[in-house]
Order: sequence, then C-alpha cells, then structure tokens
Amino acid sequence: MILLTVWDGLRPDLVCDELTPYLARQSEAGVFCQHSHAVWPSATRINAASLSTGCQPGKHGLVDNELYVPAVDPQAPISCADWRALQALADAEQGRLLTAPTLPELLAQRGRRFVSAGSGSPGTTYLTNPTVTAPIVNWAVAWPRAFEAELVEEHGGLLTESASSAERNRQVIATLRDVLIPRDRPDVVTLWITEPDHAQHGHGIRSPEAVEALRQVDAEVAALVQYLERALPEPLTVFYLSDHGFETIGSDLPVTAALIGAGFKASASSPDVVPAGCSLYLNDETLPRVGELATWLLTQPWVSGVFVRDDLLTACPGALPQSAVGGSHARSAPIMYSPRWSDECNTYGVPGMVAGHPGGSVATHGSTSPYALRNTLVAWGAGIRTGLVSDVPCGLVDVAPTVLHMLGIKPPKTMDGRVLHELLTDGPWAADLRPSTFARQSAAEGCRQVAWYSAVGTHTYLDHTLIEPAG
Ligand SMILES: [Zn+2]
Repeated sequence: MILLTVWDGLRPDLVCDELTPYLARQSEAGVFCQHSHAVWPSATRINAASLSTGCQPGKHGLVDNELYVPAVDPQAPISCADWRALQALADAEQGRLLTAPTLPELLAQRGRRFVSAGSGSPGTTYLTNPTVTAPIVNWAVAWPRAFEAELVEEHGGLLTESASSAERNRQVIATLRDVLIPRDRPDVVTLWITEPDHAQHGHGIRSPEAVEALRQVDAEVAALVQYLERALPEPLTVFYLSDHGFETIGSDLPVTAALIGAGFKASASSPDVVPAGCSLYLNDETLPRVGELATWLLTQPWVSGVFVRDDLLTACPGALPQSAVGGSHARSAPIMYSPRWSDECNTYGVPGMVAGHPGGSVATHGSTSPYALRNTLVAWGAGIRTGLVSDVPCGLVDVAPTVLHMLGIKPPKTMDGRVLHELLTDGPWAADLRPSTFARQSAAEGCRQVAWYSAVGTHTYLDHTLIEPAG
C-alpha cells in the first residue's frame, strides 16, 4: 500500500528532531527531498488539485483558492473550501471540476483501489477524489451518501463545527484505520491533515500553539504508520508531504483600497475589478484597461509578481504570462499577482515575511516567495531508497506520476509531473541527474520582474519571483 500523508502548511525547514521527531527519523531513514516545490498560488486547494492530477493549475483548472464564476454566483467569488460550491462549479461546466484525469480515476481504470480522508475543509478533502470513484471521509461529511449513512449508523457519525482540529485529525485517522483500510484494502490512500496550517495561521510559525499541533500530528501519524506496518500483509510505502510552505504577515495588502484610489475600481463591492485570492477578475467594461492595470500593479510596493492570462500578454507590458507560473486556464482571471515578500524573521526567528490581510491570521501562504513555494516531500518504505538527501528539484506535481509508476501503471503524457526515479531503489542516483537554474524577465515603468526556476531535464519548478528597479 502507498500512503500519502499531507501535513497542511508544513515548511520543510521545520522537519527536525525537536518539532517532528518521528518525521525527522523517517526522513533520515528514507529520502528527504530538500528542493521540493508547491505549485503557485501556494495555497491549499490549488495544490490539492495538483496532488490529485499530477498537473499544474493551468491544466487542472483549480487556479486559485477563490474563484469568481458569475454562472455560480454573480455577486461574489466562491470559496474552494466549500465542496458544494465546487460541485456547483462542476455542474456549471459540463460536470467536470478538474479538467485533467485524477489519480483515483486512473487507478480505478486499472482495477486498483483508492480511499481518502481529510481533517481540513470539506472542499480540500473533496479534491482528493472529486469524481468520488471511492469512499472519502472528512470530519464533517463523507462521500458517497451511502458511506456517510454507514458512518452515522454504525460508527458513531461525524463531528460538528465545535470539534477542535486535534479531534478532527483523530476522527478521520480512526475512520481510515478502523473502517476504510480494513474494508476496502486500498492500493493507495491519501490522508490530508489540517495541521500545522490552522495553528500557524492563528498563532504564528513556530509559536507554542503551532509547535504543539506539530507534535500532535507527528505522534498521530507515527501511530498510524506503525499500526499499518504491523497490520498490513503487503509492504508499505509512505510519502510525507505538505501542500505549501508558510510566511508571516509583515505588512498590509491594500488591494481593494489601492484599486479604488487608482481609479480602477468604483467601490469595495463594484463589479469592475473583483479581487479573489491572487486573482483580479475584470468585467467587460474594465477589460480594455487590462494593460494599464497590469503595468500599474508592477509599480506597487505590495506586489512581487504580475501575471496575465496568456491571450492578454501582448496588451500588458512588464507582465509575465500566467503559463510562466503554471497557470493560464479558461477559468483564470485576466490578471494574477503575488503579494510582496521579504527574508525578514518573525518573533520566533523564522524567516519569510509577506504582505497580507491580517483579519484573524498572523501568518499565511499564497505568494511566490521561496518560503511559501517550498513544500515538504519525504518518502520512506517499500521501493524507496534509504538514507538519501536529494537536492534534485521536484514538486508536489510529481507525486501522482510516481505513485502510478510504482504500481506499474504508465503515467499519461498529459501529466505535467515527472516520475521521481531518483527516490526509487531501481532508479538512477540523484547525484547523476543534472539540475539547472534559469530566469525569465520582463520590464516596464522602470520596474523589472524576474521569475527564477529550477529544472531537471524538461521539467521546471518555480523557485520565486520578485520585482526590482530596472537598470
Ligand atoms: Zn494548505
């Protein structure tokens, strides 16, 4: 069995004996990929869709954590944390939420079994298998309906909003261990754990609350993996992943006020420019100003990247195409931007500061900073090399093709990710692969935007972007 555990928001530099003693041991025993990347925007649902499809957002279509889809809600963007909104989006677009085949679908076509569980938002858990080819459990809901009814009638039901995140974690892990795995005998399991994301948002990276949450998750996952090692007749492989890194909110991100001040937006609720996540949706009247708006954004002190949908690039001097950061889908907003980031440290000595909306959070993610774009990727167990620290660039997008390959299934050519051969006992040595770095640039209005990448073969990974004075 291959178990994919996602520790939401775990920065790879927090994997250590002090904070995650079990994961630190596993990373020393197996392979620790110290150059792994999330996809951009470095936020949960976008990366959940990339884990499920092995594709960049430009191909799977879940291009931001919030999406403005007038056919679903003309008044406001939908939150992708809300699974019903995701289903409404699929219904509005010929029934397909993700526009690329998913890992569970590809497994089912080959007669392989899959189950998934998640203690985060129902939307994130739903994205582990949005066509529900197999049972899925979240703390608040389960799919399909017959499985939810079974949980309620025979296994003590689900939790309510008042449950703590520790209770949510324990509940979904117990359902996986005691109900789904023994009954469905899956070949692949995804377990998405909501911490340390929740504690880091509320209290800060490496705050006492976040440290406590990390230790709890570390112990829960240790207990599950050790139980499975004993209970399963077949060998076990475990991937320990995170969906994105994290950064501390250091300054305000005045998007709406600045758009109004510059005359692009009439009021906070006007439909001319609708901000949602990292996206700026322009209505038909405002779209002719896309170039003017993109160039203005480039000069704003709270911005570190300006990316326009590929079909609009020639109208937007200084912007990079969204395909340069993994995007540009029919659902993409005309303009996306990254909040400005810096290397400053928080009060706990953790580097990585970003402009953000405080609103209850002291830390966040989503930018093109290396602190948000670096994710955790550790592999351990059957078929995995031992005692390797890999410098080879890789990413969350590579997990699905690697899992398929390990099960003897050829990943479809449409997948953007690569098989991580260097992790496997029968693969090449990581030291024999030849990683490289390169940059793309654009400039206007005295500002130069630079996007840095790592690459191996034809596969590229976004490291970070920044905007600096030109010349
Ligand atoms: Zn997340």
